Amino acid sequence: MEIIVGKTAGFCGGVYNAVKKATEYKANKGNVYCLGELVHNKQVVDKLKDKGIKFIEDLNEVSGGSTVIIRAHGIAKEIYEEAKKKNIELYDLTCPKVLQIHEQVKKYLEEDYFIVLIAHKTHPEVIGTSSFCGDDYFILETTDDIEECVSRIEKSNKKKVVVLAQTTYSIELFELITKLLGDRLKDKYEYLINNTICTATELRQKETSELAKQVDAMIIVGGKHSSNTKKLFDISSEICAKTILIEEASELQGEDFTKYNKVGVMAGASTPQESIEEVVQYLNKS
Ligand code: SF4
Repeated sequence: MEIIVGKTAGFCGGVYNAVKKATEYKANKGNVYCLGELVHNKQVVDKLKDKGIKFIEDLNEVSGGSTVIIRAHGIAKEIYEEAKKKNIELYDLTCPKVLQIHEQVKKYLEEDYFIVLIAHKTHPEVIGTSSFCGDDYFILETTDDIEECVSRIEKSNKKKVVVLAQTTYSIELFELITKLLGDRLKDKYEYLINNTICTATELRQKETSELAKQVDAMIIVGGKHSSNTKKLFDISSEICAKTILIEEASELQGEDFTKYNKVGVMAGASTPQESIEEVVQYLNKS
């Protein structure tokens, strides 16, 4: 059996930076907390716990003077304000690409645009970004939301509409939604598309699609809550019927890989190299 591991599989720059800096920070400080999962991967979070970082869900869980790490996905502006009031020191590991979107959103708000975020409503990055959007914004998750989005824009007094994306959103779906929305809005509004899908996401999605065409089975490795990993699974499933999503190699037990000539392995942006290597070792032993 030939095993092909995607070149873009594993940590993106933002995740690598957040994990490295959080580890170094903990080594130099005493008590360090992290607000929410630093990245969406259980193995990575467990390792950070072993190193002594404590994970909290709310700033109320720590007292003034504490140090709290901010996750790679970013936080809402109210949390920055709350931390300041409570005298909590923040070590901000929000990915620079997410911070850039916060800045862009603030600029569009000042320029009186209605902001549309093509994104998953409950994702931490989106909760953070939407907090900078003012009152006139809409989170559009699927094509089913287009009508409601148009109606919200019509009810606002805005003359300009800008569309941005969650960094890990599907490129294909982003292109479809911006076209359909544009068809409804272009005659009445100034309509601006700003594709903020991260390059790392784009390359990984493209490679997944290419790899899925070449193999008999695909294994996608990544956190069950990881938005970008789920997207890779969706892309691969459409092309390669035998696509499996796993968090770790042990979940492959019971699968018979001997019947496949070629197996592809791809991994989400928060999947550590060890998890990918464990999968390859498992396949080699099959
Ligand atoms: S996927 Fe992109 S935006 Fe998200 S952490 Fe990685 S580099 Fe940053």
